[in-house]
Amino acid sequence: MTLVTRPGTLLRSHPYSESSRILRFLTPEAGIVAVMARGVRKQASKGGGPLDLFDDVEITYDHRAGRDLHTLREHRTLKRRGELGSNLLRFAGASFLSELILTHTMEEGSPRLHDRLTSGLDGLLACASEEIPGRFLAAGWGIVAEFGFPPELARCVRCNLEIPPEGMTRFDLAEGGLRCPECAASGVGPRLGPGARTDLRAILAGAPPSGLRGAAEHFNLLERFALHHLDRRRVFQTSATLAPLLASEGTGDPTPEGQV
Ligand SMILES: [Zn+2]
Repeated sequence: MTLVTRPGTLLRSHPYSESSRILRFLTPEAGIVAVMARGVRKQASKGGGPLDLFDDVEITYDHRAGRDLHTLREHRTLKRRGELGSNLLRFAGASFLSELILTHTMEEGSPRLHDRLTSGLDGLLACASEEIPGRFLAAGWGIVAEFGFPPELARCVRCNLEIPPEGMTRFDLAEGGLRCPECAASGVGPRLGPGARTDLRAILAGAPPSGLRGAAEHFNLLERFALHHLDRRRVFQTSATLAPLLASEGTGDPTPEGQV
């Protein structure tokens, strides 16, 4: 048993017995770290303050080699993001990012992945309400790319020709990118017109448009792509909250293509 101290971001917290919780953190150096926090349900503060979702926290725990669950000894909050809880869409977007990360089995840490998460959460905290969908979509695609699945949007995944500015393409989930209009005719997958492609490229470049059109369809695409490559047996639980919220955010002005 070794006492370890490291920073991390709290992704999930669920009760275990009367007084304890199991907490899952994403840490830059060790990936997901799960700890049992005893006594935190009765005593919100044990020197380190409450442990809230999405906060950056320095944790000290008894690390047991070969075990998945360790014992929390101390914690110190480094950065609070409690304001995410004041808006349902911000909170649901942040919860989706957490779930996305927890869906992937990580063998080791990745400081870049941790950066993607924290910058995504900070973006969600700071942005105007019309920017929320674009913000979490950008962070979500960034996380998926960090897992090793960057989508191909420049060239056709089937014939390798450059995707033309005009015409209806398809997103081939299995091949991980766009099919040009010609190859789209024989393919399957969500259809993407010129406007939706421009928006998706901006999202992937980390500069999502404010008041993104078709946000629900963009979310559906990210969700399907992520599940196809990460875990085809499951669904995202946060989708049940997030998808209807995004649909109702829509301006009622459908994209020219009618779909993403
Ligand atoms: Zn093609």
